[in-house]
Amino acid sequence: MSNKPKILWLNVSVFAVTFLVALIAVPYRAITHGFETVEIVAALLCFIYCGMSITVGYHRLWSHRTFQSHWSLRFICALGGAFALQNSALHWSSDHRIHHKHVDKNDIDPYSAKRGFWYSHIGWMLKEYQPERIQSYDNVRDLQKDNVVMWQHKHYLLLTILMNFGIPIAFGIYTGDIISSLLLLGFLRLVLSHHTTFFINSLAHIWGKQTYTDKNSARDNGILAFFTFGEGYHNYHHIFENDYRNGIRWYQFDPSKWLIKLCSYINVTSKLRVVSEDKIEKAKLKMMLKVSKDILRSKSQTDGLCETQQKLQSEYDQLIIKMNELYSARKTLLLSKKEQFISDVEQSELLKQYNELKVKFAQQKRDWTLLAQQFA
Ligand SMILES: [Zn+2]
Ligand SMILES: [Zn+2]
Repeated sequence: MSNKPKILWLNVSVFAVTFLVALIAVPYRAITHGFETVEIVAALLCFIYCGMSITVGYHRLWSHRTFQSHWSLRFICALGGAFALQNSALHWSSDHRIHHKHVDKNDIDPYSAKRGFWYSHIGWMLKEYQPERIQSYDNVRDLQKDNVVMWQHKHYLLLTILMNFGIPIAFGIYTGDIISSLLLLGFLRLVLSHHTTFFINSLAHIWGKQTYTDKNSARDNGILAFFTFGEGYHNYHHIFENDYRNGIRWYQFDPSKWLIKLCSYINVTSKLRVVSEDKIEKAKLKMMLKVSKDILRSKSQTDGLCETQQKLQSEYDQLIIKMNELYSARKTLLLSKKEQFISDVEQSELLKQYNELKVKFAQQKRDWTLLAQQFA
């Protein structure tokens, strides 16, 4: 008996047909008939709706529980996920939790990037590569208590048909051009939505910087973040998966984060989880130290090597000590402000100490970064 994985013909047909229609029929229609602006805008809105349902709902809410959500937002994301045709939220989250737990392990990670671009992008869905794996949903027991998740899982097929044909046809009736609407809001939107999401499993594990860790293949990539509603900061995400943000800086493009935050102001979302700043900073510095040491080791075999390495390490240790002092001072300061248990004079003394530590830390960080950069 052959051990060749069985081809999943339904998946192959869906991907092939939608891709070919988007590639051939859409440009043909554009040339011979043209599209109205309103149709293009509607297709773009549908694309955003699908993408954000996956990033906000499937990924950050259900797979990682990084915040809590009112049923209304969960319902909207469940419909959008069916529209995006990426399996039920329960199934998707189950796969994704395995991906995080066993990242890069070719036999367990469902879309291991170590098996190459094609496999992690789409190949893993075209053949039955893990026939021994029984989808027991044991790792998503918490989600089985979510009524919206279970309702979507139960009626998934019906919902995908309703969303993928219903919305384009209804919009086509409104504009009086069902064919154009099916092509743009149906096929093109679906293909773009599929492949941009798939890029997170493929490109985001191949192309970009390993800012926080090199223990897995995930990368940070600002360009990718633009096309994936913020998910391009994948190196950060793999090390701190419980954070509702992927792009943690204000200037990093992460509309999923903005939406979750915005919804918290009207109590649609709550309990947004973030990783503390000192933990993030430490991971980043540790990675810098590792890179510098690796480069140093590969570059020179001379006598000064040991000494330089020691200096790098001792300056780094100093930096971490200063950082711990700074963050503990900050904690005390914030606590004293909140609980008002000390006098104004004592508080201004605390503030003074804190500012002094801040200056010292900044100085040490500058010195150490310069030292580390000599080898990078
Ligand atoms: Zn994830
Ligand atoms: Zn990943």
